[in-house]
Amino acid sequence: MRISKLVKKVLGLKDTVVESAAVETRARGRKRRREVRVLVVRVRPAARRALRCPVCLDRRPFRDEGRGRRLWRALDFGVFEVWLEADAPRVACPEHGVLVAHVPWARHKSRFTASFEDTCAWLVTRMNVTAVAEYMRTSWRGVDGMVERVTAEMAGRRDALAGLRRVGVDEMAHRRGHRYITVVVDHDTGRLVWARKGRDSKVVHGFLDDLGEERARQLTHVSADGAEWIHGPFRERAPQAVICLDPFHVVGWATDAVDEVRRRMAAELRRQGKPDQAAAVKGLRWALVKNPENQSPEQRGRVAEIARTNARLYRAYLVKEQLREVFRVKGRHGRRLLAGVMAWCARSRVPELVSLGQSLARHRELIWATLDHGLSNARSEATNTHLRGLTKRAYGYHSPDALIAHAMLARGGLRPDLPGRAA
Ligand SMILES: [Zn+2]
Repeated sequence: MRISKLVKKVLGLKDTVVESAAVETRARGRKRRREVRVLVVRVRPAARRALRCPVCLDRRPFRDEGRGRRLWRALDFGVFEVWLEADAPRVACPEHGVLVAHVPWARHKSRFTASFEDTCAWLVTRMNVTAVAEYMRTSWRGVDGMVERVTAEMAGRRDALAGLRRVGVDEMAHRRGHRYITVVVDHDTGRLVWARKGRDSKVVHGFLDDLGEERARQLTHVSADGAEWIHGPFRERAPQAVICLDPFHVVGWATDAVDEVRRRMAAELRRQGKPDQAAAVKGLRWALVKNPENQSPEQRGRVAEIARTNARLYRAYLVKEQLREVFRVKGRHGRRLLAGVMAWCARSRVPELVSLGQSLARHRELIWATLDHGLSNARSEATNTHLRGLTKRAYGYHSPDALIAHAMLARGGLRPDLPGRAA
């Protein structure tokens, strides 16, 4: 087999002619003092793929040489970095203007081959971006760009909004809480199906616009956190859909109340000159917030201890756990338990619980809707937790677009296959 043919096979190149391949030395690192040996493969598109518009892929007249020769980073060959080098002429498309011609090995406007990008995109759904960038010998920003191109291409291949019946709408903060994105999750698949910058009724109307009138009429349930900017547009344009509250939001209110009681108790103990006890209560945060099945034996012991030493804090903890139970049993039984929790809060004489009880009472009908329709929450909650993890990592770094692309890749079912492995 000739070497060019071997290289073409190993790199998985299609519709491409390999002209030559050579090992060359390139400067790298700080001040470009480090020399690395790379494999440079000179290529050109096969005749039938040459001179096509990168957008519509139609054959178009040659315009000019553009900026001459150009390089694309390809998947490593053993320990060698591999680069493809080719002409990058421009074509004139009557519809899309003068653009650098399509190449079969890379996406439009990318400096990486499509296999390289697919590999990076696959990896970031399994490990953090820093690790991917280091392993693939590229940068965070490079990875972000790849994720955006891959998700845009994958999203274009299928209609994520087809067949939606039950959706959850939520907002997520990023950049230290100053900016938000709104996300829509399909309760039936747990998939993230839509995301956009901002959090107001205009954004929700944007979702309903994308969905279209007919499909909006097919929604049966919409769950949210009780915010009017979400409810309003759905009541107007999908009036048949039952509006519910997401259980994890309601349990989240209770978790916040427990945390407020804990902080107040710690402050009181400090004022009373009991710093050790104050520190002990302060250190209970995770034990109290975690679900009992996730507590370590040590944390369980400490929660049991509070039952003896701090009745008010323990009461708050029990209210939170009882509320979780409400959503576990659902239906009529759930309603009865909920009434019990509200009565308990009202009588508690703990201000944080009294106000939690008032929130529950205010949203009672929405919670009943959740209980009656048995909105199963596990998958959408897993998606929600994953997205919150992403937004935390995104602080101070990602643009909202990059964040949305990462979210769609990881939770929207847009992860590409690894090159050369598709079934
Ligand atoms: Zn075109």
